[in-house]
Amino acid sequence: MLPARPLNQFLILRDKRLAEATREFLARGKSVVRCKDCALAAHACICSWRPTLESRSEFILLMHRDEVLKPTNTGRLIADLLPAHTHVFCWSRTEPDPALLGLLSDPQRRCLIVFPEEANEAAAKSRQLVVELPDDGKINTFVLLDGTWKQSGRMFHLSRWLDDFPCVVLPEADGRGYAVRKSHQDNYLSTAEAAALCLQLANEQIIAEALGDYFEVFNLHYLATRACVPPQKGEVHARLAQLL
Ligand SMILES: [Zn+2]
Repeated sequence: MLPARPLNQFLILRDKRLAEATREFLARGKSVVRCKDCALAAHACICSWRPTLESRSEFILLMHRDEVLKPTNTGRLIADLLPAHTHVFCWSRTEPDPALLGLLSDPQRRCLIVFPEEANEAAAKSRQLVVELPDDGKINTFVLLDGTWKQSGRMFHLSRWLDDFPCVVLPEADGRGYAVRKSHQDNYLSTAEAAALCLQLANEQIIAEALGDYFEVFNLHYLATRACVPPQKGEVHARLAQLL
């Protein structure tokens, strides 16, 4: 059993959502004994592979309320690795959190919306697109819309308070190929992968790779949770262990 870790903003939001969740929801998947922290099966817990890192970039994770309690959610991996640099909010179209609006209007920041590539074309019609980040001392703050493809689209189009912000164009994924990903998700980039590309764009390669590795470990352990077998440890675990 690991010692309790300090709460990051995702865990605080999750506790709040758990308190609101219905009993039916909580009963789902009850047969698996899950780690309370990472929500994976106890035999596939990722908590001991989680480094705490510092970055110059920051993230605003805008989560659809349904996403917060999903064990498949990957946005939380960003808050895991960068707890001091990840701000997490439940999305509300009409009542955005004042702290969120405060971050968005902070003149020290460059807030950029990360909207998956398929939508860039549509977004370009009315939005400024950013392909590289000027080195002007502002904190690059990436706003991630964390939900299903459909939910993220709605969050993007319905949030009038996001209207004035440019969209970032992410670099191509470097083809390391997360084969396991496709077995349980769409072909779209996951939130964690999109964040890794943001870090790459911001020239934070080491942290980008660490997040990619942590995401890969998450995938392996998630599959091990589903298959009820212990996860196989590989090179990716060794790389993460060096950062612990
Ligand atoms: Zn765990």
